[in-house]
Amino acid sequence: MRILVAKNAGFCAGVKRAVKITEDAAHKTGIWYTLGPLVHNDAVIEHFRNRGIDTIDNLEQITGDDIGIIIRSHGVSPVIIKQAEEKGIRIQDATCPLVSKVHKTAELLIQENYDIIIFGDNQHPETLGILGWCNNRATVISDVEQAHNIDRKTKIGLISQTTKDLKTFLAVAAILMTKTDELRIFNTICSATKNRVEQTLEIIRQVDLMLVIGDSKSSNTATLTKECLSTGVKTIQIEKADDIQDEWLKGVSNLGITAGASTPDWIIKEVLDRMTAYEEKDNQELNQEMENQVIQQDQEMENEVPPTQATENEDTQNQEDSFAKMEAEMAEIASPSKGDVIKGTVVQVKDDEVMVDVGGKSEGLIPLRELTSKEVNSAKDIVKVGDELEVLVLKWDDEGNILLSKKKVDAKKEMDKLEVSFNQNESIRGTIIGSVKGGLLVDIGITSFLPASHIGEGFVKNLDDYIGREMDFKIIEFNRNKRRGSQVVVSRKELAGEERAREREAFWASVEEGQIRKGKVKRIVDYGAFLDLGGYEGLLHISELDYKRIPHPSDVLTEGEEIDVFILGVDREKSRVSLSRKKLMKSPWEIVLEKYHEGEVIEGKVVRIATFGAFVEIEPGVDGLVHISQLANYRVDKPENVVSVDQVVKVKILGIDSEQKRISLSIREAQEDVDAQAVAEYLEKQEQSNTEEEVPEVSEPVELSEAEDVAEVTESDEIADLTETE
Ligand code: SF4
Repeated sequence: MRILVAKNAGFCAGVKRAVKITEDAAHKTGIWYTLGPLVHNDAVIEHFRNRGIDTIDNLEQITGDDIGIIIRSHGVSPVIIKQAEEKGIRIQDATCPLVSKVHKTAELLIQENYDIIIFGDNQHPETLGILGWCNNRATVISDVEQAHNIDRKTKIGLISQTTKDLKTFLAVAAILMTKTDELRIFNTICSATKNRVEQTLEIIRQVDLMLVIGDSKSSNTATLTKECLSTGVKTIQIEKADDIQDEWLKGVSNLGITAGASTPDWIIKEVLDRMTAYEEKDNQELNQEMENQVIQQDQEMENEVPPTQATENEDTQNQEDSFAKMEAEMAEIASPSKGDVIKGTVVQVKDDEVMVDVGGKSEGLIPLRELTSKEVNSAKDIVKVGDELEVLVLKWDDEGNILLSKKKVDAKKEMDKLEVSFNQNESIRGTIIGSVKGGLLVDIGITSFLPASHIGEGFVKNLDDYIGREMDFKIIEFNRNKRRGSQVVVSRKELAGEERAREREAFWASVEEGQIRKGKVKRIVDYGAFLDLGGYEGLLHISELDYKRIPHPSDVLTEGEEIDVFILGVDREKSRVSLSRKKLMKSPWEIVLEKYHEGEVIEGKVVRIATFGAFVEIEPGVDGLVHISQLANYRVDKPENVVSVDQVVKVKILGIDSEQKRISLSIREAQEDVDAQAVAEYLEKQEQSNTEEEVPEVSEPVELSEAEDVAEVTESDEIADLTETE
């Protein structure tokens, strides 16, 4: 038995594309439904049901989160898309590009105030979708009789459901011409159905029996069966291989096989396998050939450019050519459809766009805004010719280029990674890039939100202090479908708690008395300051700040500064550590011992007066005693008769007792030293002066003037006076 399989049997390009999109959705997260049956074929519906994708009739049937719908090739009204978006439902749009083209035409005609006539079936989902795109302001007619009943209009725009019959469409167009002053005809009929019928009729003349494979509910299969029967050749419609009865095949030398647009390849193959089983061994070779033919024809289906339509009107011819061209292109580029992620090679880079070879007829274009989420001035900063990119198909532009986005693929990849981190409760690294009301923005590949209450370091006064810091985070909220607010919310609370516990453990394992540690001033209070030592927060008491008296800790410390502290003691039982800052400073006594020596005359301030003398501060915190007998070179009854508190005096260090930490001072001796010094200086000066005066005597005698005589006498008198004082 010879088996002939009609070209283009089975899925059309639009249905193939919808099936592929649905297959892809089965791998995505969330629950997916097709809005209406994907194709009129129970086996296909069952196949997807087994893959977790059920069919729903309307959006009201959907409840719950993380839901997605697949819009089948028939397309839907924009109202339904809007409703789905408002409900936060994800959408995979598998509307056939040819149907989308009809939608655009309907929109255009409405804008230009045409009365739209849709040649289609009133309740067909595709027609209902088209009606939605022209705000339901269109009249649907399905035959010439209804065309006759149309009232006269000023301007009529005629479009068609893609699967309607061309002959009737042209007849309708002819009638409408008489109903208006201006008629615009858009032949939006897809040639897939017509081609399938034509190619089936081509082989039917060579066969004894024609098997038409397709679901009993499929209207295009029913049309195909009807066309075959009209030729007089025995024709039987079957849904699957098991429907075939052996007696049908008895005496059949040439068998024809064709299939409707909703019949998947695997059912056609099952029918061919069934034929193989029926055939005698010597026919097996032939069957194999037939199978090869199916595969070959399947490839041809994708690559073949449909023949140009024969038309009666030149305008209609042009429209049809363009529609057929689009259909052919759609098949040729192996259906990279809106929402597909494809690979391409960069062939040209301009500042504002990148041209990508995506393997089809059309060039792919990535506008700069779709190249990266980063701020760049030129696309050349990001890619170069020859780079291979993964890109998302956005849409086709008016010149037939495919608009692509790399940015969205990158973002999706990031989201995929983040979703894994979220599901596995992994920590992620990010950089804080800005602040907003109530929290911070964190770059974790995408921009996420960190609520202020989740920073994990208690109350934060100034969020901007965190900008630029790189930290670890955990994702606490992940929702790709969120329309408002951030899809990813991060937190440091848990990590900060874990970090603190680790630090605490490390601190107590290593802290020892006598160590010097770094501490960050967290809080200043009247009695000291609380320091963060990394795993321990301890009090540095005001008395341990300095040797000298500090009126308030804020006089020497600032919140946020890091200082060195000495560990005075460690009480592990009470988890307490005592700290000192002054221990790391030189004590006043150390300074005194280094700086001062017995016999030196220094300045000091009288800080206290007692009956036995006066205390003079020579360094902050160190006072020396000037005994009453050392206050003056005469007998003193009361110290206050000679000195007063706060008076700055010159004192001579009589003795330093480092063990007893006592210093004895003398104002009297200091004064004597000062006087002696003055005399010594005067005498030295005098001697110099005398030496200079003697020089002229060597050469010639010089007469002293009267004034010089007076000066000489006066200076001598001063010496006499000083001697008396001594
Ligand atoms: S318009 Fe044509 S190619 Fe598209 S789904 Fe319909 S029949 Fe298939």
